[in-house]
Amino acid sequence: MPSPTTIIGLEVHVQLQTRTKIFCGCANRFNPDEPNVQTCPVCLGLPGALPVMNRRALELSVRAGLALSGTIAGLTKWDRKQYYYPDLPKAYQISQYDLPFCQGGHLDVDVEQENGEIQSRHIRLIRVHLEEDAGKNLHDESGRGGDSRVDLNRAGTPLLEIVSEPDIRSAAEARRYLEEIRLLMVYLGVSDCNMQEGSLRCDANVNLEISNSANESIRTPIVEVKNLNSFRGVEAALVYEISRQQREFEQCGGIYADTAKQTRGWDADRGVTFAQRGKEEASDYRYFPDPDLLPVSFSDEWIEIQRAELCEPPADRRRRFVAELGLSEYDAGVLVDRGRETADYFEAVATACGDAKQAANWVTQDVLRELNEREETIESFPIDAQGLASLLGMITSGDLTTRSGREVFSSLMNNQGGDGSIVERIASIVEERGLSAVADSGALETVIDAVISRNEKAAEDFRGGKDAAIGKLIGEVMREVGGADPNAVRETLISRLRP
Ligand SMILES: [Zn+2]
Repeated sequence: MPSPTTIIGLEVHVQLQTRTKIFCGCANRFNPDEPNVQTCPVCLGLPGALPVMNRRALELSVRAGLALSGTIAGLTKWDRKQYYYPDLPKAYQISQYDLPFCQGGHLDVDVEQENGEIQSRHIRLIRVHLEEDAGKNLHDESGRGGDSRVDLNRAGTPLLEIVSEPDIRSAAEARRYLEEIRLLMVYLGVSDCNMQEGSLRCDANVNLEISNSANESIRTPIVEVKNLNSFRGVEAALVYEISRQQREFEQCGGIYADTAKQTRGWDADRGVTFAQRGKEEASDYRYFPDPDLLPVSFSDEWIEIQRAELCEPPADRRRRFVAELGLSEYDAGVLVDRGRETADYFEAVATACGDAKQAANWVTQDVLRELNEREETIESFPIDAQGLASLLGMITSGDLTTRSGREVFSSLMNNQGGDGSIVERIASIVEERGLSAVADSGALETVIDAVISRNEKAAEDFRGGKDAAIGKLIGEVMREVGGADPNAVRETLISRLRP
């Protein structure tokens, strides 16, 4: 029997990084500690309050749509989606129904297959639309019958919904797709995509195509898993749901009493999905055009202005780092996935020092290690790109050994070398510690001869075959000539003692 085909489509919600909410002047800011302070008659849904469209939200939305290769509509409008819920005081959500601002589009993601090969997957999009977020209901979960509360700080936050075709074929692929959307939105400055704060969430539609005993292709009923808010959660929920549907198919033999779409929640603690209320159909929402908001038309000129604001997408940047700068796929991935600022920093170092591979080694290892240890971002990194490039330049030209370069690097990290620019501080650290590489090999040999004559016993031991005895001699030479290359010292000592 052929193995089942997994069919997944994702609806990704991205909160836009605007200063104010979508239809009012309230601050758009995550603020759970002071509930209901970022509210006004508009986002509280008080009678007579009128929404005013936030221009910035439209700009960011259209940029996101263009970056996803979608077609921006000439005319778009706003619709009311009616439902009652305590976190939605108007009893309708302003959304987009039949004329979303963006249709089509796609995102290509590289996905590691089970055999370890990387496969590029083309995920098509159905549409991208803009809507307002609801507030938040907070329920007492102690089981002691406490209060439920409503916080409307989030009500009216601009929310982008990116709807994919059911082109995703595994839980791992769904995770990669979501990771790539997140990175793209962060690169574009469309959203901070902070998942802990709920700025990026998704719903996953999943079902399976399985052959039954008569070799007929049967599709299991579609399940929508709601409100997934972590990469791990998306992957784990889908893995669980795929095997649950498979078990259910085996039990019923592909004959289902109810084939309607189901809605399920994800319980991360127990690692299971669970049945929720039945899913409403579009007709249940009684969509109609919002009479308070004018439709919006975009001119071609305006769309081109937005296009000019786009940056190089992360996927293109990874490819360019490999093709033009000669980096490994792995290093290119580490640098780009870390965020736009880190990729910019690396590129500035690579350009200034003229050695992209060396720049990649130092940024992926030394710089990222320091950032991780300090829990800081590249913007606050104490060594600027020009400074690191000049240090790497000294190593390339042979003025510093790699070992001394590392010593200078850590001295810079510890704020040593005075108050000047990074380049001045490097010079003073090299000077102070005598790290300048010994260009004159004659000078090195003089020191080596002196060390040998002061350490007759160790020299004799080494001549007699005790290899370990050379360590003491190398150590003494290195103490005297701080900038010496330990390998060169070792070789010179060996050629002296065992000619
Ligand atoms: Zn408001």
